[in-house]
Amino acid sequence: MEAIGNVSWVSGPVVRMSITGAVQMEEQVQVGKDLLIGEIIGVRGTTAIIQVYEETGGVTPGDEVYGSGAPLSAELGPGLIGQIFDGILRPLEELAKQSGDFIARGVTAPSLNREKKWHFAPAAQTGTDMTGGELLGHVPETPLIKHSVMLAPHIHGKLTWIAPEGDYTVTDVIAHITQGKVEQPVTMMQRWPVRVKRPIAERFQPDEPLITGQRVIDALFPVAKGGTAALPGGFGAGKTVLQHALAKWADADIVIYIGCGERGNEMTDVLTEFPKLIDPATGHSLMERTILIANTSNMPVAAREASIYTGITLAEYYRDMGYHVALMADSTSRWAEALREVSGRLEEMPAEEGFPAYLPSRLAGFYERAGLTESLCGRRGSITVVGAVSPPSGDFSEPVTQHTRRFIRTFWALDKTLAAARHFPSINWLNSYSGYSDVIAAWHAQHGDPRWQELQQLMMDILQEESQLQEIVKLVGADTLPDSQRLVLFIARLIKEAFLQQNAMDEIDGYTTPEKQRAILELVAHAYKRGGHIIEMGAPSYRLENQVSVWPQIIRAKSTVKNEDQDTFKTIRAAMDEQLDAIEKDYRE
Ligand code: ADP
Ligand code: MG
Repeated sequence: MEAIGNVSWVSGPVVRMSITGAVQMEEQVQVGKDLLIGEIIGVRGTTAIIQVYEETGGVTPGDEVYGSGAPLSAELGPGLIGQIFDGILRPLEELAKQSGDFIARGVTAPSLNREKKWHFAPAAQTGTDMTGGELLGHVPETPLIKHSVMLAPHIHGKLTWIAPEGDYTVTDVIAHITQGKVEQPVTMMQRWPVRVKRPIAERFQPDEPLITGQRVIDALFPVAKGGTAALPGGFGAGKTVLQHALAKWADADIVIYIGCGERGNEMTDVLTEFPKLIDPATGHSLMERTILIANTSNMPVAAREASIYTGITLAEYYRDMGYHVALMADSTSRWAEALREVSGRLEEMPAEEGFPAYLPSRLAGFYERAGLTESLCGRRGSITVVGAVSPPSGDFSEPVTQHTRRFIRTFWALDKTLAAARHFPSINWLNSYSGYSDVIAAWHAQHGDPRWQELQQLMMDILQEESQLQEIVKLVGADTLPDSQRLVLFIARLIKEAFLQQNAMDEIDGYTTPEKQRAILELVAHAYKRGGHIIEMGAPSYRLENQVSVWPQIIRAKSTVKNEDQDTFKTIRAAMDEQLDAIEKDYRE
């Protein structure tokens, strides 16, 4: 490590340095006696500006700064899955071992364990010409994840040697790539600068749903694998509970969960809960497919700024292997606040509400790294990004929510009135939307559910009509409405209580398969159709509401009928038909 300058000024996470050596923009540096990790974020004449990822108390003018010659980078290789990292990818468990529960400044450990041996099986032949990103071999990383060892993107040449199948650490040489006379040793580990997207071969339009088991999402406002979604909501609206539900149940191969500036106890919940949870698709612990990045509100603010880039870099790495990765960030508003704090200390010209003028371009740069792609080794994989947004006092007109809207295609607007009424998830059906509905409808049609879009449209129509009718009801009461409109109010209530409300803490209700979602919706649609017909024949709506005993059964089905149990839905439907027949016969000519 080489001294490249001396500290001249300190303000919170921002340090200025007078340059004495060679520096690069975005270079990772170490500051002062404690060797605090930082990054050069600006150079003005002979002064460099550094954001420091640890508390800067104790750093004083004159302290030396050391360069690394490389930008802030992630270590990529086997051993990432199941780990808990801080915002700059230091493994928290390792740090705690070194310094106890309160992580001391300057303590560090590499992201990937240097001693652990992985069982590498080669998949490439010596003598072949290889280009960046191509496959060298495989390692079983967890029982769920077969790790593809790929050549780093910018390396190419002839494979002149590859290690035989066996056990190797991430720093053992497992291949030689030769170009002319230069032989380059290759290990299972590569580094990648976190602020740069990893190259891909091709990008596609997302075309299949990320099945989340959350009914309001899967049926009304779906997100596609490789898509983007924002989850805005005020304090207590249910953002964290929903992000956790997505992390637990979404049918992604790998989940990267970034706890970004929120309270520490929420992260503790994840840490204690996830290892115990079993993935319904595979029967394995959820941690065998999960990486957690924790940068809670009590941790340094600059590392929070870095955390979404480190997280998405890990996501890209697994995407390149052909996995479907889901990345949750809770909350991107706290990330934007970190950006604002650093910008303020740099005395930059503030834009809206003190946020820097580059807030929108940074948000765009983050969401752009989502997508469905083909990697350099020919694998189709995806990154779905779900960003929580916490607008102060739940006001969506503030800059982070507004700019985020421009870069995402699914908007799950959490509503404080619904949350206050304990309607969870509090996704407001009138101002939420999904830009993936058409492609997802086509996917469902190809996968045995041609009625998906029809049911989605029917539910949305009923809910929208209900909201207009409620305006009238507020003015003149429900009694003045014709029976056909009272039926709409009744069916809308059924949709909300039997379908939209979902208790994340309930063992059965917490996760609903598409088949069960479909079964509930078919019951509601059937009730609406037959109910409308019977009212046309002259029956009053109160008879439908009060003389049919299956309604409470339908409402309870979400938490009483197991996902596999289609028979109970058939029984309920038969009972409904019988009870409706009994009413209908009174109105037959
Ligand atoms: P936010 O992160 O938006 O501040 P939380 O996700 O912490 O809000 O939710 C606040 C509370 O609301 C939770 O502690 C829980 O009691 C309740 N809640 C939110 N979503 C659900 C849900 N899907 N099912 C049951 N309860 C929920
Ligand atoms: Mg929260």
